[in-house]
Amino acid sequence: MRMEWNRAFGSITDWLLPRRCLLCDAPAGGDNLCPACSAELPRVPLACPHCALPVVTPGVCPACLRQPPPFDAALAPLEYSGAARYLLTQFKFHGRLSHGMPLAWPLLASVRERGDRLPEALLPVPVHARRLRERGYNQALELARPLARVLGLPLLPHSLRRIRVTSPQMNLPEAARAANVRGAFAVLQPPPAHVALVDDVLTTGATAGELARVLKAAGCARVEVWCACRAV
Ligand SMILES: [Zn+2]
Ligand SMILES: [Zn+2]
Repeated sequence: MRMEWNRAFGSITDWLLPRRCLLCDAPAGGDNLCPACSAELPRVPLACPHCALPVVTPGVCPACLRQPPPFDAALAPLEYSGAARYLLTQFKFHGRLSHGMPLAWPLLASVRERGDRLPEALLPVPVHARRLRERGYNQALELARPLARVLGLPLLPHSLRRIRVTSPQMNLPEAARAANVRGAFAVLQPPPAHVALVDDVLTTGATAGELARVLKAAGCARVEVWCACRAV
């Protein structure tokens, strides 16, 4: 309820007041940042198209050549550090939905720059019902909203469900992450053949990998992962 009020109130103040940069209070653009702060966001300069990790030469990274992840492509343009990390923390843990826009913007630019065929739908990575009650919103869904709107893609927030509470992946050693999310998700509706999972941050890819696995078992042919940030 509080969140809905904030959202409604946010749209009224957006309309009445000029936008200010979330980082320095200078006049801001549609991404809620001024051009200088926007240009200074930490970006991954060159990334593997399969896992979104930084690479030095263009193309698929050696790790993906050896053992590709269960998803088919990944985009995660910002490095999870500095201002990007600050914006994401405010957006995810402090109810500041306005801080999602500067995270969605670079992702949108990456999708357009890549120029590949667009997916048939966007699927936000679900949070467990208990966490949704505590937080009041799913940050992945809030991030996916402007992407779906601008790209003209259907947003399917009810296709996937998190059926088990999992520990935050960030708190776990890499080896424990796949086991933490194994069996954590259910597919509730038959997915389209080509989808993009949307999430805030791509860490080891264990969550995205598990979701890609269950989506493919449910008949999906191509699963992409679109995240605002890449933990490197
Ligand atoms: Zn600024
Ligand atoms: Zn890779």
